[in-house]
Order: sequence, then C-alpha cells, then structure tokens
Amino acid sequence: MTTAVTEPTGARSRQTNYWRVRTARTRAPAESAEQAWHIQHGHPGGAYCDLGNELDPPAHHAPTLLSRSRPTGRRGDAQEFRGGCLTCDWEGPVHRGGGYGDGDNEAVEDAHDHAFPGWRGLPPITQVKDRWQIPQSRSRWAQLISLYPAGWAEQGAPLLSWSRYRREAHAPPHQGRPRYELRIARPPSHRDKPPTDQGALF
Ligand SMILES: [Zn+2]
Repeated sequence: MTTAVTEPTGARSRQTNYWRVRTARTRAPAESAEQAWHIQHGHPGGAYCDLGNELDPPAHHAPTLLSRSRPTGRRGDAQEFRGGCLTCDWEGPVHRGGGYGDGDNEAVEDAHDHAFPGWRGLPPITQVKDRWQIPQSRSRWAQLISLYPAGWAEQGAPLLSWSRYRREAHAPPHQGRPRYELRIARPPSHRDKPPTDQGALF
C-alpha cells in the first residue's frame, strides 16, 4: 500500500522536492527519490551540472530536462522524460524511452519550443568538425549568431547541428558551452551525399 504523494510542479519545485526525498525529509523512502520528477543529472539546475547552482531564476525562459523512473516489476525500471523551465512552472508532455536520445531528446525539444519558439529555423552546423571549430572562432561564431533573433544567443538559444546518426542525443549546456546543442535530422535533399568530413573524427 503506497500513499499517493502530491508533488509540486515546475522544474525548481520538483528539484527541491527530489532533494527532500533523497535526504529523507519526507515520509517517502529516500531510495524512492528517482521515482519523483527531478532535473536530469547534468542538465541545468540538476545534480552534476557545472553551470553552478544559482538560486535566482534567469530573467527569461530557460530549458531543462526532467526525468523519473517508474518501477515496472520484473523488467526493471522504465524512464520517463518531460521538458521543464527554470523560470516558470511550465512542463511538457511525458515521453517514455531509454534515454541517450530516446525520449529525452523529444522532451528537450519541447522545452525549447517553450523557451525559444521557432528554434527549428535557426541555422544549423552541417559539418562535424564545425561543432568544435565554429564556437572557438570569434568571427565564425559572430556570423552564425547574427542569424539568430535579437537577444536569443545571450539568452542561451540552442546551437543546432545535423545529427550524425538517428537519435543522436542532444547535449546539455556546460561550462564554456552555455547552451543546449541540439542534433537535427539532415534535410532529405542532403541525405544521399556523404558528409564531406566523414572520417574526420573516427
Ligand atoms: Zn518558462
């Protein structure tokens, strides 16, 4: 017999609740914390995020990723994901999947629809080597973000790049790269051509 626990909503409140469960400050067993919605480790506002744990919400909508595990009996736990925002209580629909691009990607995209509506129209990086080179080049970076809506780059609008394979996982922001890096499908008109820099990394 389990007691239904009413969870708060909104990424920050969820995360606070998660830490309260984990540190045994609620009646729920501490080991059940992963079953409460919380910010996915490594994503903004979550554990192991090296952007810091500042308490003041940003002045603009800021995407993050929520997750929880659901016990499924014999088959172990299932993961659920939904987008969240560090500034307001918005939460996206629930996506099930194994993570690493499956379920978590969809949730991160929902969060960007909330924070940066129209982000899918941002100019993508089309070559793998440019994922590293463009952010390191002052002139090429300035050229890229000049195509962003005013203020978006400063507010952490995502960096888009063509994915190398199906469901390549989006990368959360981290120190020095303070924005999500979202992998989008290569447009059909380019799919038949091999990427010019294939083999550059492998
Ligand atoms: Zn928001």
